[in-house]
Amino acid sequence: MTPPPMKHRASDVVEPLAKAETSFKLLVESVRDYAIYMLDLDGIVVSWNIGAERIKGYSAEEIIGRHFSLFYTDEDISVGRPEMKLRIATETGRYEEEGWRVRKDGTRFRAHVVVSALRAPDGRVTGFAKVTQNVTDRWEAEQALRQSEERFRVLVEQIRDYAIFMLDPKGRISTWNLGAQRIKGYKSEEVLGQSPAKFYTPEAQAAGKMQRLLKKAEDVGVARDIDWRVRKDGSRFWADVTITALRTPNGELYGYAKVVRDLTERVEAAAQARAYEAAQEAIQIRDEFLSIAAHELRTPLTAAQLHLQGMKRLTTRDPAEWNHPRISAGVVSAIRSADRLSELVETLLDVSRIATNKIRLNLMTFDLPTVCQEAIERLQEMINEAGCTVRFVGPDRLEGCWDRLRIEQALINLISNACKYAPNTEIEVGVEKLGEQVRLWVKDTGPGIDNDHLERIFGRFERAVSSSHFGGLGLGLYVTQQIVEVHGGTVDVESTPGEGSSFSLILPIITPSEGLPPTGDSPY
Ligand code: ADP
Repeated sequence: MTPPPMKHRASDVVEPLAKAETSFKLLVESVRDYAIYMLDLDGIVVSWNIGAERIKGYSAEEIIGRHFSLFYTDEDISVGRPEMKLRIATETGRYEEEGWRVRKDGTRFRAHVVVSALRAPDGRVTGFAKVTQNVTDRWEAEQALRQSEERFRVLVEQIRDYAIFMLDPKGRISTWNLGAQRIKGYKSEEVLGQSPAKFYTPEAQAAGKMQRLLKKAEDVGVARDIDWRVRKDGSRFWADVTITALRTPNGELYGYAKVVRDLTERVEAAAQARAYEAAQEAIQIRDEFLSIAAHELRTPLTAAQLHLQGMKRLTTRDPAEWNHPRISAGVVSAIRSADRLSELVETLLDVSRIATNKIRLNLMTFDLPTVCQEAIERLQEMINEAGCTVRFVGPDRLEGCWDRLRIEQALINLISNACKYAPNTEIEVGVEKLGEQVRLWVKDTGPGIDNDHLERIFGRFERAVSSSHFGGLGLGLYVTQQIVEVHGGTVDVESTPGEGSSFSLILPIITPSEGLPPTGDSPY
């Protein structure tokens, strides 16, 4: 059933309207957060609410009837800003702005103001409504944020040790700091708006590295890469790169931050430090070498001098003494000292040849057992003096192609050591064939060598005995090992303290057609 049409009397409409107007007026009056007031056409305040009183500090009685320019700063008044606003509001119906206003006590506050023109039903402007909000807190917060952003921007801009720059979401460079300019060599105007692809090496570009890194940063937040990058001048530097995806609080990607550190300087500094250490060590070895060499050379030199001076004394008194048997004995001793001197000098020269990679092999085919026998014969005097006996074990013949003099030298070093460190014992020199190799050994039954020293004794100047007990340069085993290694072989030692030592040279059997051994690319 449709309701009967309503019948209205004029008072039915007017009364509620008047009521509504009253309550609206009350509402406006009681709003505390906004200053809401009206001006007449001349800008005189005609109404005033609680909010206006609270924000501007004037009570309604104090302000009604006064001109609204009271709320403006002297600067604004001097340029006629209050009147200008009313004019614009009259012309356009509305004017909105944010600016400084003055309270009754003279303090300023930041105001957001909307002025609306009030019109009579015939369209004439009869006055203005103003709504003002105090936005000082927001303004200050914005200002503080802006300042801290600015400070941060200046800080980043001034950093010289790191290249720090941003990319927009499309990967184009949008900021560029001093560090970026220093490390990469480009000025900001040369790179802004461009892709950073040119900082990558051509290889990395071809492999799509930049795209991969950006994708990774986008997917997981950060991407790190330590690799070569290219400067403007084409030179490369070793870079530590971190790319961070930048997102708004609601997760939208707005760009990437790239931080690049040039590690080249660090790498170079570390290499320099290592080179410096090596140089220091080399200097120390050289000093040690000089003192050991001088000491060792002095022994035979002094002996030779004594023999020669003795002969001189003898013959100056009586030239006939030249025939004295002490003269021939003196000559023999002087020659022996000179031989020892030349032996030492040869060893020193060998060490210098090894150090400068100048040992060259003079390969020839010869029989190893024969060389062993000859060496034993040559050293017989020394062997006797040491109270030793030397026994050879091995086949009658075992031919190979080696440097005969060098192998002899190695063998003599080992037999001499056995005589020196294992006097009055039986020494065994042996040769055997082991497949494609031969083993040549010198074994004694002397004091042996401590396990701790076994590795060391092949080093330059390394000795397991005190120099006051045994003379020596500490170079014999070093030179021996180098000789064997140049032949592509190895040296081995087995020793039990109190029982003796056995030094073995393992040499590949080289046939003449082979020329240099398989390891002929050895640096020596
Ligand atoms: P040097 O004989 O001039 O000291 P080497 O390089 O020939 O130099 O020998 C290094 C060290 O090895 C010797 O000082 C010694 O301590 C030890 N050594 C070498 N051969 C023997 C051996 N047969 N018995 C015991 N120790 C040895």
